[in-house]
Amino acid sequence: MLNFTVGPVMCSDEVRAVGGEQVPYFRTPEFSAVMLENERLMLEFAKAPEGSRAVFMTNSSTGSMEAVVMNCFDESDRVLVIDGGSFGHRFVQLSEIHEVPYEAIQLRHGQRLTREQLYAYDGKGFTGLLVNIDETSTGVLYDAEMLGSFCKKNGMFYVCDCVSAFLADPFDMARCGADVMITGSQKVLACPPGISIILLAPEAVRRVTGRKVKSMYFNLADALKNMERGQTPFTPAVGILRQINARLKEIEAAGGAEAEIARVAAQARDFREKAKELPFEFVSESPANGVTPIHPIHADAYEVFTELKDHYGIWICPNGGDMKNTVFRVGHIGHLTHEDNTTLINAFKDLLARGKL
Ligand SMILES: *Cc1c(COP(=O)(O)O)cnc(C)c1O
Repeated sequence: MLNFTVGPVMCSDEVRAVGGEQVPYFRTPEFSAVMLENERLMLEFAKAPEGSRAVFMTNSSTGSMEAVVMNCFDESDRVLVIDGGSFGHRFVQLSEIHEVPYEAIQLRHGQRLTREQLYAYDGKGFTGLLVNIDETSTGVLYDAEMLGSFCKKNGMFYVCDCVSAFLADPFDMARCGADVMITGSQKVLACPPGISIILLAPEAVRRVTGRKVKSMYFNLADALKNMERGQTPFTPAVGILRQINARLKEIEAAGGAEAEIARVAAQARDFREKAKELPFEFVSESPANGVTPIHPIHADAYEVFTELKDHYGIWICPNGGDMKNTVFRVGHIGHLTHEDNTTLINAFKDLLARGKL
């Protein structure tokens, strides 16, 4: 199997080996030490400001997006949502469900957000901003620093969903002034799905502490309190947290966040260069490193996905919704090499020769 999706992705042998071990009981000093090390490395890799904290949620990252909306905003807020694809739209739906007043900046699929578009909302009384730094459905990378200085100027609470951007694109939580960063285990962390991590800068820690939330499981103050001793309120996905620990240490040993980001960037560059000769149109105006969304000019995108899966043992990532038949995505995250890119390109060429691309 060769997996070019955007999650779950290919794991390293070391991470897979940890997955094969017995899962230990977790209310122990040993497991607390693993959790506190995970927190330290996550904060370091995201360049979180002094006094930031991490919580490890046993849910997919949509659960963390929901927890953040519930714990950081209420009906007295007015948030701005960047809605440029299916993940941005998820923040719109969550604001709707939790009755947080919002306005959405709607962008065409693949369109970047310009300063002019953003500053049309300057001084209009917004209290928060929700954005997916890499809108994974269209591969658009938004400018985290431009958004951060806009939030600072307007006194807005700044939430960055970096689920697919963390460790794929440069991100400096302190410099861009993000109050919250969200990511998940199955993207660049290249572990099985099941854990999502929320980083909270000091302002976010203050905001969630002592707040009344109508939820037992998604209470971030409770999660923070438990995390002071390296624990969680309820039984977490212990095995995945141990795999995350192995993976974070693997990244640290290979040179840290910068080295991993450079590796993913090179993987993306290599693929995009090799794909130039194929009948493809690249969708994103401002490409993120983690994924390349492609419009195959002569073929049905979903059929290309099915053909590669069934006849070549290669998985690319289909798109959902109204992009299903026009766009597929090739991921550059996880345990992949430039040689793997060549294997995929050769499969595309074979499809072309067979009249299927
Ligand atoms: C993958 C992803 C998510 C989370 O999806 P889950 O299926 O809930 O893990 C959220 N936001 C972005 C930008 C993503 O890429």
